[in-house]
Amino acid sequence: MDARTRAVHSIVLEDPELDFAPLPPVKSQLVVFDFDWSLADQDTDRWVHEVLSPRLRIEFVERKPTMQFTDMCAYLLEELHKEGHTRQELEDALRQMPIHPAMLRGVRWLGAQSVPHTDFFLLSNSNEVYIRTILGHHGMLDPPVFREIVTNPASFTESGLLQLRRRIAPDGPQHTCTVGCSANMCKGDELDAFRARHADEHYERIVYVGDGGNDYCPILRLGPNDVALVRRHRGLAQRILNEGNVRCTVRYWSGAWEAEQLLRALGATA
Ligand SMILES: [Mg+2]
Ligand SMILES: [Zn+2]
Repeated sequence: MDARTRAVHSIVLEDPELDFAPLPPVKSQLVVFDFDWSLADQDTDRWVHEVLSPRLRIEFVERKPTMQFTDMCAYLLEELHKEGHTRQELEDALRQMPIHPAMLRGVRWLGAQSVPHTDFFLLSNSNEVYIRTILGHHGMLDPPVFREIVTNPASFTESGLLQLRRRIAPDGPQHTCTVGCSANMCKGDELDAFRARHADEHYERIVYVGDGGNDYCPILRLGPNDVALVRRHRGLAQRILNEGNVRCTVRYWSGAWEAEQLLRALGATA
């Protein structure tokens, strides 16, 4: 079984083969992070209900096949509010959500290197409130680790309802992605837009850290000098195996301790 097949089909590898060889030295790079199950070691949209309302966690599974994902998450937050859960409870639940210390250590180590220069970009289908609450709790907003955070907009009302909206509003122009991105956002388009906004940076390498099926679209936009750090046993590894067409280097990880070593491999100097 080759590494790509094993990345999808094997049971969890307690001690996977080590794949930490240094990546080619560069002067400047962009590291793009997905949030749920990538930077964070859990999924925000599911976690809040697992912590606060088991009934809504079950409803999440029941409604997912028939509702647009962001709309469904917005609906479930309205139900959570009707159950009487407060803003404070929601924020407390988010602060309990795990980010593995090794992942934080890897990001901070890479960000502290002067060569290569590394910019970080967070690209997520979660929402602004979830991400900012969790990043703030881990000291990643001040000073900001991420140059930009692109996700779905969200804000609390006076009564403590968390109102969530699609990044691409349903009543305006829609994206034209055919790779399978959800209607609320095409992650490939968002990556290209970031690169266009920061074209003067001349990043020598783009690195994408992801796990989910919706991370496949941006990875298709990467070239042969770029790198994808793909979490094993999840949707992205499955799509790479089934659909192929990936031109960048792919390295696999399952635990954050492995991702930390891969982040260190991105910091190799000549
Ligand atoms: Mg994810
Ligand atoms: Zn797309």
